[in-house]
Amino acid sequence: MSANEYKIGVIGGTGMYKIQEGRDIDGLQLGRIGRKEVAFLPRHGRSHSMPPHMVPYKKNIEKLANIGVERIISTTAVGSLRADYKPGDFVITDQFINMTHGRDDTFFHDKVVHVSTAFPYCEEMRRIAVDSAKELGYSFHGNGTVVVVNGPRFSTTAESRVFRGMGADIINMTQYPEVALAREKALCYLNISVVTDYDSGVEGREEGPVSYGDVEETFAHNLDRMSKLLSEIINRTDSRRGCGCASALDSAVKA
Ligand SMILES: [Zn+2]
Repeated sequence: MSANEYKIGVIGGTGMYKIQEGRDIDGLQLGRIGRKEVAFLPRHGRSHSMPPHMVPYKKNIEKLANIGVERIISTTAVGSLRADYKPGDFVITDQFINMTHGRDDTFFHDKVVHVSTAFPYCEEMRRIAVDSAKELGYSFHGNGTVVVVNGPRFSTTAESRVFRGMGADIINMTQYPEVALAREKALCYLNISVVTDYDSGVEGREEGPVSYGDVEETFAHNLDRMSKLLSEIINRTDSRRGCGCASALDSAVKA
């Protein structure tokens, strides 16, 4: 298998640190999910040693792009800001609000490039993900706006209230700048989130604020379902791209 045949990259988030079979090469695991070869990268490291603000987002995206990956599927654990996005639900994210700070979020420091992130997640892959989640009979949301915060602490109740008011449905610490950097490399980026908790609490519900133990425990319960969903999505993903992601830079560069 030559390296440039790894067209699909999977970035595993909290609770997902390896794939069933695969050989380790330079921090990547090259193996199979579903019927296809994929390059797997655990975002926080194999033993979850990197906190969200220390993840080498640019290196990770570059590493995948360098071995020929064109489409990235990322998994994340998210908190819910709404009563109807319940723990155990899957979310196929379609928008983000960036509230992180101090992260290097561009490959273009010495060149004027403005990519569009109006629709930051690959619409073609999102459709495949929706069809796959339906096929498997999962409880899922085909849309979701994620607010990405710096962490590593969880939110105050006042912050949660503000984020809800901004229109966010879910909250996470890692989707940004990963999604934006993928766009700058003209890669497709799909995110599949699992709701693990109700953040600092949702009005009208009795659950207390989230703890990290809750997050890992809920994700662990759903790891099997996540793996099945990934296989289904990957099996349905055509090697030829029918989306606009590949031309993300065409009108973004200053002439
Ligand atoms: Zn795409």
